[in-house]
Amino acid sequence: MEMKLRAGEIAKNVVIWFACILAGVELLVYLYYAPMGAERLRSEFLISGLITAAVSLPAIIYGMILRERLTLANAAMHELLQSDRMSGLLNRKVFMERLSVFLRDADRSVGVLAYIDADHFKIINDRFGHQAGDAAIRLIGDCIRHNSRSSDLMGRLGGQEFGVFLEGANLKQAVIIAERLRTQVSQASSELGIKGLELSVSIGLAVHKPGQSVEVLMSQADRNLGVAKESGRNAVVADLQRYTA
Ligand code: GH3
Ligand code: MG
Repeated sequence: MEMKLRAGEIAKNVVIWFACILAGVELLVYLYYAPMGAERLRSEFLISGLITAAVSLPAIIYGMILRERLTLANAAMHELLQSDRMSGLLNRKVFMERLSVFLRDADRSVGVLAYIDADHFKIINDRFGHQAGDAAIRLIGDCIRHNSRSSDLMGRLGGQEFGVFLEGANLKQAVIIAERLRTQVSQASSELGIKGLELSVSIGLAVHKPGQSVEVLMSQADRNLGVAKESGRNAVVADLQRYTA
């Protein structure tokens, strides 16, 4: 994850801090020099302002850059803790939690859950080795990311199982997206550069209904995934119906 220092944020904080320090210094100058006349006060204001700027500005700028770096490091760490290291997607716990929050109190259908499982993964591991299996998991993660919108929840739910919640999608749209993902995974197999390795995924879809819990939605998608497996794999299934030609 690439994070850039936000120059605007740093500048804003520098201005706020400098203004506070300057106001404090000038208040003290006023209290001390006011009795000595306006002329003296004006020159002391000017001198103290210049000295305050020369001394405090570099320190404030440095401090604000450090602070911004710390904020970014915290954000990166937070994201790392929430994500699965191999695929870069959310881990199961966070995926379920976020989906649960999203579905809570929804009084209409808010999207479609796609439950994705790699086909014959044991055979892939056995024939090509565990490292090839790991590379395949990363590839599926990439395909999921490329196929989804950044607003969709994407997670690695287990070894070679993934979940995507297609926010705002209806069944027809979800079938199109899932089909595109399924095809892309098959076509991307060659990118692994391992002769004979043919990767495919089966996908079970479940349209969210108002009041439905994550668990119920997951089990419905899982049931459709089971049908996709039983009907020959490398397929998209919703409402127990196979959509893949
Ligand atoms: P199916 O088509 O029915 O899904 O068959 P499958 O062989 O894919 O079976 P299953 O979905 O139960 O996959 C389990 C296998 O996934 C077992 C395990 O070796 C492999 N696996 C799970 N996690 C990892 C991982 O992190 N790396 C690798 N290389 N393999 C994993
Ligand atoms: Mg599998």
